[in-house]
Amino acid sequence: MTTRPHGHKLIRLVYAVSAIIIVLFVGSNIFLLTSADNIAETVRRTAEENLVRNEIDRQIEIVANDQSQISYWDETVRAFAGKVDDHFVETEIARWLWDDFHIHTTVVVASDGTPRVTVVRDQRMANSESTAFIAQARDLIAAARSRYMAARERAAEGYVIRHHPVRSTTPLYVADIREVRHTVGIVVAQAIVPDNEATLPDGPPQLLLTFKPLGPEMLASIAGKLGLSGFAVVTAGSGADLGARMAVRDGDNGDAGVEAIWEPASPTHSIWSRALPYAALAMLVVALALTLLVMRYARALKALQASERENHRLAMHDALTGLANRLKFDNTLEKIVEEGTQERCAVLCIDLDRFKAVNDTWGHHAGDVVITTVAHRIAEKVGKAGMAARTGGDEFIVLLQKNLERDDVQWLCDGIIDSVCEPVRFEGGTASVGASIGVAWWPDDAMTAKTLIRSADEALYRAKDAGRGRSRFAGEESWDGTDRRACGERRG
Ligand code: GH3
Ligand code: MG
Repeated sequence: MTTRPHGHKLIRLVYAVSAIIIVLFVGSNIFLLTSADNIAETVRRTAEENLVRNEIDRQIEIVANDQSQISYWDETVRAFAGKVDDHFVETEIARWLWDDFHIHTTVVVASDGTPRVTVVRDQRMANSESTAFIAQARDLIAAARSRYMAARERAAEGYVIRHHPVRSTTPLYVADIREVRHTVGIVVAQAIVPDNEATLPDGPPQLLLTFKPLGPEMLASIAGKLGLSGFAVVTAGSGADLGARMAVRDGDNGDAGVEAIWEPASPTHSIWSRALPYAALAMLVVALALTLLVMRYARALKALQASERENHRLAMHDALTGLANRLKFDNTLEKIVEEGTQERCAVLCIDLDRFKAVNDTWGHHAGDVVITTVAHRIAEKVGKAGMAARTGGDEFIVLLQKNLERDDVQWLCDGIIDSVCEPVRFEGGTASVGASIGVAWWPDDAMTAKTLIRSADEALYRAKDAGRGRSRFAGEESWDGTDRRACGERRG
């Protein structure tokens, strides 16, 4: 009986553990998908950033290459070696650089850093127009000058540059993305060097400083090439927030820096929408399998509990009559005697009279029917006043917990004897047996369960000795009262 609440607890525990497993499984799947999204997001972002960086570097190189059409030319060296060749400026710089390459501003910077020629679009301007531009590109001018100084080689009559100023691992040009007059573009500074064997004088070189805005056409072509929508290069912090923003040039004192902005392609939704149906299906299958498993387990556990209960019942009951057996009787009595749950109780030892004759006359099976029938009659007589048990053969024992006065017990014994005496009908005949009863009270006649049963047994033997079909009480060895007639006599 104690297994039932324990079993329920176990089943509840199994259900709870399964629920936790399902929740953990679903949670870990969601976590995995989210992590995959984050990783995909990072990978995509890094890939896009690399693409943008490479493309900007490529554009810078293109502009540097365009610019070098002038800065890497012996004609240019010649045109600015002495007095400025105005015709050269007009045709090659103002027309060519603007018309063919859209280089917006070109300044020829003298070796002392001052502007010698200033051209905006295809117009030659006063050199004062380029002072601000030169000031803004001072670092680039200085860097281009150092590059030249590092690259030049001593020749017979001066200095030469032996490698290509653009397509070399150590190019002569220095370039950057800058905001000039509120327009973001590419600034290139490069020493003016000849493209033949001509030599250059010692000292710092003259430089070509150019600015080409990153105009809508150029941006559209980059965006198209990279497959990015909304691509633009803007002053840091400005422009629409499209989702992706990357510094192209860090700001320094008085310069906010330049950023590329674009709308990131989003693999996030595609991963979720692609993986979710499969993940949901897997989760459903696992949840279903686990639920079925738990249900099966619960069923098996319930069956096990039922069989355990049945085993327990069998261990405590007599197989033939279904009454309690000796074990259950002893347990119950010992509990009362040891724990003192009640003040008094009585034990009735009952043995059928001349039962062997039934077996001998009608056979063992008929004997079984008689034992079963009288067992139920005894149990019925005892009712809720106590417990009736079969202790073996034709012996029964009753634990009486109510109606313990002598007269009441005597009345019960008479009732039991009368009911046992009633003929028992079975297939093929009728048999009659009697019953003798010995009674002892606890704690009046004995203090322990064992001695109590022994006292009741002794009284039973006295009842048998006195002629059967009667009851005898412990502590009344010298009985001289009048017995009721035994059932055989009554019947007779
Ligand atoms: P007494 O009046 O002195 O009690 O004599 P009795 O004939 O009742 O015989 P006793 O109590 O000494 O023996 C009981 C007999 O019951 C012995 C055995 O053959 C028989 N018996 C024991 N167990 C069973 C059983 O399960 N079924 C049947 N049919 N007979 C049993
Ligand atoms: Mg007997």
